[in-house]
Amino acid sequence: MSTYILNDVSLSSSSLFQIDTLILTPEFALICEVKNIAGELSVTENPPQLLRITESGRISGFPSPLAQLTNTCQLFEDWLTAKNINLPVLGCVVLAYPKQRLSIFKTTVPILFPSIIPQHVRSLYTNQPLLSTEELQSLAQSIVKEHRSYAPNPISTTYSIKPKDFLTGVDCPLCNTLGMTKKGQFWVCPSCNHQCTTAHQQAILDWFLLFEGPLTNNECRRFCEIHCSQFTRQALLNMNLTPVRATKNRGYIKQHTQHR
Ligand SMILES: [Zn+2]
Repeated sequence: MSTYILNDVSLSSSSLFQIDTLILTPEFALICEVKNIAGELSVTENPPQLLRITESGRISGFPSPLAQLTNTCQLFEDWLTAKNINLPVLGCVVLAYPKQRLSIFKTTVPILFPSIIPQHVRSLYTNQPLLSTEELQSLAQSIVKEHRSYAPNPISTTYSIKPKDFLTGVDCPLCNTLGMTKKGQFWVCPSCNHQCTTAHQQAILDWFLLFEGPLTNNECRRFCEIHCSQFTRQALLNMNLTPVRATKNRGYIKQHTQHR
């Protein structure tokens, strides 16, 4: 049976929506909402929330992936209906970190680790195809054709927050403590002592979510609390960003903002 797997799909029906992974089969469409949140997670449907508990016991809340998923499924259903395509739209939440500790309370939506997805997809088949091979192919093609890159407004604009009101520094990828310090080529966490060489990369990606580009060397050093402009220059060059302006006062923009 033919299946299409499309990643990072952005479409528009009554509003713009974005699908992390879309699995298309002749019987159904499956929307996978991927969550990259490290730590121990607790998910409830009512009230819709996702809580993360770090090792130090700090609890932080995130928008419910279930509410987000329901919304995306509805928008994609509308999109299909507008094209006269009758295909059930199913959803699941995928947790990108396979070794996570997880508590799920009374949810009707499957919450899966990536390795389980093939098994889950197989379990959904009922041997009652609604689309022919040609129809499925044409559906996949129109999705690709209508895809538009998704660039949400930066958070500082959406919520009118001044740049100086955001905390600066590099987050520890292990324990999420802000304020790793640079020792030689390593970033060192003041809390758990974790060392790595690439921790600044997430901070740079975060910057593009928070602010409007282009990101200059100076601004990058301020935001990541890096002293060395040479290191910053190399770090920015290594990140597949697009340079704008000449060497002096060069800034970088991110062509395809795809984070949420
Ligand atoms: Zn740490």
